[in-house]
Amino acid sequence: MPLACWGNHPVVPARAARPERRRDLDAIVGDPSIGTLISRGLGRSYGDAALPPEPREGSAAILHERLDRLLSFEPASGMLHAEAGATLAGIIEAFLPRGFLPAVTPGTKFVTLGGAIAADVHGKNHHTEGSFGAFVHEITLLLPSGEVLRCSRAENTDAFWATLGGMGLTGHILSARIRLRPVQSAFLTVRYQRARSIYEAFDLFAGPFSTFRYSVAWIDCLSEGAALGRSVLMGGDHTPAAEVPSPQRSRLLAPNVPRGFRVPFFAPSALLNPWTIRAFNALYFNAHWTRTRTVGYDSFFYPLDHIRDWNRLYGRRGFQQFQFVLPHEFARDGMVEVLTGLARSKRASFLAVLKTFGPSSGGVLSFPKPGWTLSLDLPHDGGLNAFLRGLDDLIVKHGGRRYLAKDACLSPGHFRRMYPELDRFREIRARLDPHDRLASALSRRLGITP
Ligand SMILES: Cc1cc2nc3c(=O)[nH]c(=O)nc-3n(C[C@H](O)[C@H](O)[C@H](O)COP(=O)(O)OP(=O)(O)OC[C@H]3O[C@@H](n4cnc5c(N)ncnc54)[C@H](O)[C@@H]3O)c2cc1C
Repeated sequence: MPLACWGNHPVVPARAARPERRRDLDAIVGDPSIGTLISRGLGRSYGDAALPPEPREGSAAILHERLDRLLSFEPASGMLHAEAGATLAGIIEAFLPRGFLPAVTPGTKFVTLGGAIAADVHGKNHHTEGSFGAFVHEITLLLPSGEVLRCSRAENTDAFWATLGGMGLTGHILSARIRLRPVQSAFLTVRYQRARSIYEAFDLFAGPFSTFRYSVAWIDCLSEGAALGRSVLMGGDHTPAAEVPSPQRSRLLAPNVPRGFRVPFFAPSALLNPWTIRAFNALYFNAHWTRTRTVGYDSFFYPLDHIRDWNRLYGRRGFQQFQFVLPHEFARDGMVEVLTGLARSKRASFLAVLKTFGPSSGGVLSFPKPGWTLSLDLPHDGGLNAFLRGLDDLIVKHGGRRYLAKDACLSPGHFRRMYPELDRFREIRARLDPHDRLASALSRRLGITP
């Protein structure tokens, strides 16, 4: 089948298997006729991390979506044991009515537990609480040999730290124990504030917005000059039950039922162009003035989930998401250089999001490290990869790195300079997968696997 991830670029012909039961998974992993394997969740990574390499080698993707049971839950500690195919959407539906939410969540709830661990995903609270890995207590891995390995901070620690952010290259995650966050309501109290430039946004983040558990800024990446990087900042905290306004009290711990607008087909590639994006940006910026509101968790954490298949708006050629982090000391200069380069290139990003990162989780290949992170969505065209390589030079120069879950074009040379622990990762991987049975299109492109 043609297989792609969320950016719809690249699309590769691939073999895929969707085991219904654990014994089916064991049979696939033990099948010597299959070349290499890579696990896949819901394909919400953007590039080629969840795609198998060359189909001619008989490689295949294992789709974990049916292996999604919630196995046990301890309400006193919030500890959930679930299979890797369980989704954050399913976990929220089951546990929000009992007063629990995932402690760290990416910008979509349509990701699996396995995908969240393998990418060590981050949310809007990295600066205060770290990445998904901070709440993972134990991972059970199925190794290519068929052996099952339990790993944690106390047991098989190398395997644990290599699997967090290890992009599926250390084994097939079968299940994990994660700690959920107790909440009193399904709502957040959110402050919105406009910043007239990226400089003002940095100051607000470092000042009044530093005390929020969650913070994020939407950036108008087409603005230039004195308005370069003008933004809307959002800072939020969970709303205690007593502070939920009365109209919303009746739905105190109710999960949101998706109202399902779906983009029915691929839009013409020209739909998202600098003119339409400029018009959207002006509307969005002017619609947000300084105020504080109580909003549902779904609107705050997952605004894009309200439009199903929104990736089709980019047309059949797809798009690339480009996310990088720059350390604090170089972030201001580096971000200004990237935004200036982007504005000059007339490449418009429909979504541009700025966040701050706190300390790393300890995952050997985990992306987050202290600094500032910016993500951009750029429609794919013939010249995009060359343009992004230019940005990669800038990122390396400023001591930053790119996020592998959102990459489709990083070069092996840039990668090596961005991830200095690559050799340690390879050593651990060699013990877990000595015959190189695990590989993805991404791992081959970057030289992580032979
Ligand atoms: C709208 C949107 C918003 C997003 N926002 C954020 C964000 O704010 N922060 C962030 O960090 N990410 C974000 N992402 C990226 C997304 O969270 C990650 O790419 C996540 O890994 C996707 O999970 P998945 O289950 O779809 O995994 P896939 O995309 O299918 O796979 C991702 C990686 O996980 C591996 N993997 C999956 N399942 C297993 C398993 N069972 N065992 C071993 N390896 C496995 C795959 O091999 C692959 O390397 C966003 C994505 C979208 C589409």
